[in-house]
Amino acid sequence: GDTIEVAQFSDWMRRYAGVIHENAAMLTELDSAIGDADHGSNMDRGMSAVVAALEAGEFASGADLFKKIGMTLVSSVGGASGPLYGTFFLRFGGKLGDGPVDAQALGVALRAGVEGIVQRGKAEVGDKTMIDAWAPALEAYDAAAPDGLDAALRAAAEAGAGGRDAATPLVARKGRASYLGERSAGHQDPGATSSVLLLEAAAATLA
Ligand code: ADP
Ligand code: MG
Ligand code: MG
Repeated sequence: GDTIEVAQFSDWMRRYAGVIHENAAMLTELDSAIGDADHGSNMDRGMSAVVAALEAGEFASGADLFKKIGMTLVSSVGGASGPLYGTFFLRFGGKLGDGPVDAQALGVALRAGVEGIVQRGKAEVGDKTMIDAWAPALEAYDAAAPDGLDAALRAAAEAGAGGRDAATPLVARKGRASYLGERSAGHQDPGATSSVLLLEAAAATLA
């Protein structure tokens, strides 16, 4: 549709939880090469807690929903990804407002969420983190937003995947992978990978 209902936001989160569960071993495998082999289990624990929180509560607005989700991730996930994704959802929800969420409004909220990740983690494009997926995704989203939600979200997911892959040959400059120095080159970043899964789940549920 042209605007997003609160129920669609919770569908997005349920779908993402399922996708994370299915891909937990793959994400942990990626993290075993350049990290501490816990990204899949971190995200799976966090998103299971999110699903439990969605089932336990009623949410009148997207802002309420994502506040709960952000707080749940921050408190249930140790490691970098908990505070980073938690901040993303807190900032994202904080920008949704009370009115209907159309393609343009969703773009504003996504950008605020990513700005939260940058504020918290201080990563720039090229540091081989989730920001390498998010930055091109936001650009592609904004370019396609005039064509509607579906086009914008598909473009974002595709550009995010391109950014994830472009980061693979790079040397990590943030997070645990940076401890490996040059040896981090040639490995796909786990957080960029889980971020693309989030965008793909958005394209499947929000449009
Ligand atoms: P940890 O590294 O604490 O074990 P995870 O394994 O769950 O946490 O998450 C690792 C992912 O977090 C990385 O692949 C990377 O994408 C992301 N990440 C780590 N540090 C940063 C940062 N400073 N800014 C943005 N993303 C980061
Ligand atoms: Mg890890
Ligand atoms: Mg860890």
